[in-house]
Amino acid sequence: MPGTKDLCHPETVRVAASHQAEAEKIAAELAAIAATGMVLPGSITERRTRCGRANCGCHADPPRLHGPYWQWTRKIAAKTVCRWLTADQRRDYTTWIDNDRRLRELLARLEALGAAAFDADPRWERQPSRPASRTGTRTSR
Ligand SMILES: [Zn+2]
Repeated sequence: MPGTKDLCHPETVRVAASHQAEAEKIAAELAAIAATGMVLPGSITERRTRCGRANCGCHADPPRLHGPYWQWTRKIAAKTVCRWLTADQRRDYTTWIDNDRRLRELLARLEALGAAAFDADPRWERQPSRPASRTGTRTSR
């Protein structure tokens, strides 16, 4: 029932006003990024390479390597997947990757808020029975 107070569970955790305000800021930024649809996991790295021709400048001392080339890299199921990008692809997808990083940062902040509220729960103070010691819990098995 919307708008009904949960009288059966008066101890339902309430979020502090500052916590709520912070969560709303995070939510707004998350939504703004998500709405662009421009989110790409992985990373883009610059590569400079040597070719197979022995008399090429890339084998000189000092070497004049080929490139720069840009490579997008991502881990999928513990396997690294790579693709070469053109210069304009690199320019465009750098933004997408930055967006992905920001999403993860925002989620981490949201989780940190939740963890702080969890730690601050006053009910931790009045638990009737706690294990006598932490060292005792691991030995019995
Ligand atoms: Zn070369």
